[in-house]
Amino acid sequence: MTRSIVALLAIVLVSFASLQLFPLLFPTYGSDHSHHAYDILTSVLLGLAAFSLAYGTWATKRLRKELKVRSSAHTEALALAQHDPLTGLPNRRRLLEAFSDLIRDVKPDHFRAVMMLDLDGFKPINDVYGHAFGDNLLRSFADRLAETLGKEGIVARLGGDEFAIVSPVFKDKSEAGGFARRLLTRINDRFEFGDRQISIGSGIGIAMYPHDGHAITELLRRADIALYRAKSSGRSTYRFFEVDMDASILHRTLLEQRLRRAISEQEVKAYYQPILDLDTGKIAGFEALARWTDADFGAVPPLQFIPIAEDCGIISELTQHLLADACKVARTWPEDLYLSFNLSPVQLQDNALPEQVSSILNANDFPPQRLVLEITETSLVKNPDSAKRILAELTDLGISIALDDFGAGHSSLSYLRDFPIKKVKIDRSFTERMLSDKQCAAIVEAILVLSKGLDIDAVAEGVEESDVHDALNQNGCHYGQGFLFAAAVSAEEASGLLDAQADGRLPFGAKTDAA
Ligand code: C2E
Ligand code: CA
Ligand code: CA
Repeated sequence: MTRSIVALLAIVLVSFASLQLFPLLFPTYGSDHSHHAYDILTSVLLGLAAFSLAYGTWATKRLRKELKVRSSAHTEALALAQHDPLTGLPNRRRLLEAFSDLIRDVKPDHFRAVMMLDLDGFKPINDVYGHAFGDNLLRSFADRLAETLGKEGIVARLGGDEFAIVSPVFKDKSEAGGFARRLLTRINDRFEFGDRQISIGSGIGIAMYPHDGHAITELLRRADIALYRAKSSGRSTYRFFEVDMDASILHRTLLEQRLRRAISEQEVKAYYQPILDLDTGKIAGFEALARWTDADFGAVPPLQFIPIAEDCGIISELTQHLLADACKVARTWPEDLYLSFNLSPVQLQDNALPEQVSSILNANDFPPQRLVLEITETSLVKNPDSAKRILAELTDLGISIALDDFGAGHSSLSYLRDFPIKKVKIDRSFTERMLSDKQCAAIVEAILVLSKGLDIDAVAEGVEESDVHDALNQNGCHYGQGFLFAAAVSAEEASGLLDAQADGRLPFGAKTDAA
């Protein structure tokens, strides 16, 4: 291109020079008789010059245009290399590059917070609702982060459902805490996509520059550790990095590996805690509770491993094998005894659940009328529509639903009306303190009155003392469960309890006249 312009310029120059030199080189042609030839030559050369000029202008324009296209392609390529195509947010690379500029204006005694976030239970949501839905959720989530952050700082998507934020400059930690709370409030608002609504939480892990490190990679690592800690609390919350967290993160990773193996090898077992009819002192049913003992970690409590199983998408696998085991065991009990089984909140968003439960019941020849599924209020709040649909399918099969930990969560009375609830389980925290704390006693009494009015069975959890047992009896509570009677026991021990009961040896401190 450049070469053709030079050539054309040369033609223009040569033409111009020829016009000037012609009379000098051929002076005789200056006479009248040669005028005509001179005019022709001049016109030809002028025409050539005009053409060259036009062509030159056109070629220059084209060159400019091409350069422009090339430079915008370059800018686009640069933008692509620095942004996440799904959300349009900066990516990890851009975040790393931008960090040095962001810390330049941090005065002594001031901070910027490096925050890591990820969505609670994103994987199961993505699996259940599909990837298009997951993508929409990520985009809206990204928008909310960007909107809350405003113009100061940077928010980036690091991959999957992982996001990072470098905050505006803060004077102290409490300002960072306030900012994290604002983010959580915004995140916790319900997301709406067409006729589908969904509530989803997020954890936030925070590392402070320069207090927790100077390099962005180290700050991100520390914020990630704090994020794990935030998520293990089971709520949508934030945590600041603390030095002793480093060791615990290693522990959690190892635990997750062990749990995956234990679940696939069916080493997690169901234990059975009796639920008593407080009027007769007899066992009305058993609640299956998951138990896992690892060779190195020892007995790991379900409150520790169930959230891990939920988090890494293996809770459904665990539930299916535990339920199948429990049905096999419960089939050997007297026919009037029921089996109570816990479901995780994420499972009430899984449309495949009713079919799975039904085929497990069929395969193990266990009547659905003897199965009670325990759910928590959280699972209803998260996505009421899908929970309602799934619960309706389960109750159509003949299964009963119990509301677990009642009183401890949202305690919205409308759940009892809007969902097919057959039982409420009064949370342990009220039962335990009902003799020492008037408010707890009042709550227990209120739940009992309410359940009676709605014709729902109430089961008091955490009965540890006989005085509490008596107080429950006086208040008309018909069912109880707790260490006063028995902790969760193995299938063999449970059948031992039932044998003793059949022999008229009531194992528990029940009313003697009921024997
Ligand atoms: P939860 O469903 O509320 O289960 C009752 C918990 O209270 C059990 O703890 C039980 O051992 C404990 N408990 C029973 N009686 C007493 C008592 O008198 N005093 C005290 N202090 N505690 C008592 P566990 O087995 O550690 O289970 C804790 C939670 O883990 C359960 O709470 C449930 O939310 C979850 N979980 C356990 N097994 C499963 C399972 O198979 N699937 C799911 N999704 N969650 C499970
Ligand atoms: Ca339960
Ligand atoms: Ca409970």
